[in-house]
Amino acid sequence: MPETIRIAYLYEDLMNTYGDSGDVKILSFLLKEQGYNTQVDNVSLDEEFNAFDYDFLFFGGGQDFEQSVVAKDIAKHKQTITEYIEDDKPMLCICGGYQFLGKFYETSGGETIQCLDILPFHTVFKADSRMIGDTEYKTEWGTVKAFENHSGRTYFDDKTMLKPLGKMIEGYGNNPEDGVEGMRYKNVIGSYSHGPILKNENIARAIADKIIKSHKERMENKSEA
Ligand code: GLN
Repeated sequence: MPETIRIAYLYEDLMNTYGDSGDVKILSFLLKEQGYNTQVDNVSLDEEFNAFDYDFLFFGGGQDFEQSVVAKDIAKHKQTITEYIEDDKPMLCICGGYQFLGKFYETSGGETIQCLDILPFHTVFKADSRMIGDTEYKTEWGTVKAFENHSGRTYFDDKTMLKPLGKMIEGYGNNPEDGVEGMRYKNVIGSYSHGPILKNENIARAIADKIIKSHKERMENKSEA
């Protein structure tokens, strides 16, 4: 019997812009290649959630309106997500999902959406432009090509704790000034890349490996309990 890897897709029904669900499909495919089944749970509004029941958390992009709906629900999960991240477990957050790990997101409509405030960064809007187009950047796992579409500009408040995912070759990434894309902290990756990002096999395989490791650890902890 193949083992089943458990993936939590946070607010899948609300946060799923520009084909981000493709990231989860690609991971399921790569995990299948390595002999694992996957179970993907949509963790949505008004649900109980323990991050430690899962081997991987995925959080996709969203429109400002959906983000304001999610903001009202997600605060109750702050503790379990924080502990999961601090325990070196893997998580991938795209665009609006990425913004949620920081302190707040100021929208183009003048609303301030309170985010989880787990990691030291924030996202603001400036009147002149939305960042739309192809992106290309260098990462630890090689060059990544993707697509971005966001009005939020993300800035790190602590540049020693957070590292960028990559260095821009083309496009904006986090904001027009810093020349970097995304964020890494422990085994969490935040990124503005749609496309989906995991069509880039190098980074997809790196994340799949992290998920298998996380699954093995969860199984070991279960048998010890
Ligand atoms: N609504 C956010 C922004 O415009 C995120 C967009 C997205 O997730 N695609 O910055």
